[in-house]
Amino acid sequence: MDCLVPGTQVTGVDAVPFWRRIRLADGREGWSAKKFLEPVGPVVDELAPPEAAIPPNAWLEVHIVDVGQGDGIWIRTYDDGVAGNGVFEGKNIVIDGGPDASPGEATLRDYLESRGHHGSVIDALVVSHPHDDHYPGALRIFRHFDVASYYDPGFPKGGVEYPAFLNEVKAEKTEGHPIELHIGRSNFGVPAWGKEVKVEFLYAWPGANDGLGSKANTVENNASIVMKVTYGRHSFLFMGDAEGKERDDAPDKPKYVEKILLAEHQPEALHATVLKLAHHGSETSSTLPFMQAVNPEIIVASSGRKKFGTVFLPDVSVLERYCQLNPAVRMYRTDKDDEAKYRTTKNDADGDHVVIRTNGRDIEVLAYADGVLLTTGETCQTVPP
Ligand SMILES: [Zn+2]
Repeated sequence: MDCLVPGTQVTGVDAVPFWRRIRLADGREGWSAKKFLEPVGPVVDELAPPEAAIPPNAWLEVHIVDVGQGDGIWIRTYDDGVAGNGVFEGKNIVIDGGPDASPGEATLRDYLESRGHHGSVIDALVVSHPHDDHYPGALRIFRHFDVASYYDPGFPKGGVEYPAFLNEVKAEKTEGHPIELHIGRSNFGVPAWGKEVKVEFLYAWPGANDGLGSKANTVENNASIVMKVTYGRHSFLFMGDAEGKERDDAPDKPKYVEKILLAEHQPEALHATVLKLAHHGSETSSTLPFMQAVNPEIIVASSGRKKFGTVFLPDVSVLERYCQLNPAVRMYRTDKDDEAKYRTTKNDADGDHVVIRTNGRDIEVLAYADGVLLTTGETCQTVPP
């Protein structure tokens, strides 16, 4: 452990999330938190590489963390050790923070802190929509990390809690700079998360509730930010809780967000290798025309043991639809074995994380049960829904 004088020039030689291995002029090497390093000197401006230019070890990782019933997702891009040239910058993006948890059970924060360090920079936090299983855990992210930018659909949620949450967001500072706020789709712009990554906001609350449902809960789900991330030949579609129908409707006629997405985008634009299922795999989403457009190879349900009326999510009927569409689809769930183990909302965040990584060509899934890496993937055959 050494304390460097501000202005000391070092050479970056390696990187892991939130840390950079550095070499001093005298040849000594060690690790520094990235937040204390600034790029200096000539930086080669690399252009967005075609797929072939993504190094084989340049993994982009998507961690769908088991936060119980809710969503909590961490995306980390590859860091090539050259800071500040806009490509392979090792960015950290969080989508949703999961539900509130009692003290000591801040699942997503703990997951991030065990892989980073207190005060690390989260480059962007995206809150898909203001529901209790998506945003409250994000407050713990703000309190333990420095969040540089914030994305929110801008839905005018009343009450006390969400406006109070937004006030804390707005007070956030990162290295002395106020947080960059992107509230409402027209303020999203194009995120600078590295030229090698294509980020598209395909949908967010349009500013009026027309056509988004008659129940307040449905409308709020249909305010969700829908985001697609493409890296090389693979892509991820994050749906938040966007819906496509009422539970009892037949699955062949899309309504709500799925109808809007199909009207505004060509099927190729909706296609994704990996689909984070909308609304925890609920029967209120995943209509047939939408599924056919996305045509995923891998689906992930982020859910837990919270009962909605008479059902837990994901709905088995939804998983069956994906298996019928593509019997080779691989499905993963953050509520793995929660039913068999009699889990409840108090203890369903038991480490069933799903980590997907791609170098733009290959794609690998590391699925965990109780925090232990599983050796075999799940298919429609091995795990009948
Ligand atoms: Zn939800």
